[in-house]
Amino acid sequence: MRFDIVTIFPGLFAGIFEHGVIKRAVAGGLVEVLTHDLRDFAHDRHRTVDDRPFGGGEGMVLKPEPLAEALEAIGATAKAERDLARESVVLLSAQGKKFTQATARELAKLDRVVLICGRYEGVDERVNELLADRELSIGDYVLSGGELGAAVIVDATMRLLPGVLGNEASSHFESFGRSEAELVLEEDEAEAGGAPRSTYGSGGLLDYPHYTRPVEFGGLTVPEVLSSGNHELIRRWRRERAIEKTLRNRPDLLEFAVLTEKERTFLRSLDDQIPSSIDRHRP
Ligand code: SAM
Repeated sequence: MRFDIVTIFPGLFAGIFEHGVIKRAVAGGLVEVLTHDLRDFAHDRHRTVDDRPFGGGEGMVLKPEPLAEALEAIGATAKAERDLARESVVLLSAQGKKFTQATARELAKLDRVVLICGRYEGVDERVNELLADRELSIGDYVLSGGELGAAVIVDATMRLLPGVLGNEASSHFESFGRSEAELVLEEDEAEAGGAPRSTYGSGGLLDYPHYTRPVEFGGLTVPEVLSSGNHELIRRWRRERAIEKTLRNRPDLLEFAVLTEKERTFLRSLDDQIPSSIDRHRP
């Protein structure tokens, strides 16, 4: 898979892609991440890529022409043919749809993603209308540029690609992972592909708490069940802690979480401990 990042600050990405999983994925030829300096597509002496906003107001706006030229120069497919080419052009924007794990899964199916990083007051709206396929926000806050957002999207997406994580199942077990039912469905659909089957996914819950050595730290000991060797007990303990944590930190996720009858009963039993109305969030 190839990522192209169009930015006025290509230098910002230098360190980010030179460590850990991304570095290994790039070195192993699974992922290509290219940065492109938007100023290379300006034609005046000052390499101008921004201009004053029509209608007045604060700040400057990124002009559409250098961005259009950049896309052409890097060989982005014409907008009408992008689906067919398994390609997408993303405009980073605080006004965009929220980028989630589901979006990352969608992007991970593509061959190429081009990320346009805004700066200043933003980007001329015609870039959104004519050049981009989607406008994505990484959260409800305003950043000074799209670069950190682009890095977030590259990281979250590329770690879902086959072969990038050592253990394929890792991305199913963690926070926002899919349920066993979804994984089985996908396996059925991709029958010939022989995707590895995970025994269960997180089913839309947050991840369970993790522990490592030492057994005792700061007066707290690792829960005994984790050293019991009883896999069924450990599995159940982890599911229950995941349900608790999701209820405490992200009750909105419970609406779509896939829970067994027993787990629902457990969730209801938490009503006393966590006084928020769980009925609102019960599927
Ligand atoms: N005037 C814009 C607004 O109020 O929505 C904010 C512009 S922001 C200072 C400059 C650039 O940062 C944006 O064009 C966008 O590319 C990027 N950006 C800011 N917040 C973002 C977010 N939450 N997600 C993704 N990109 C963001």
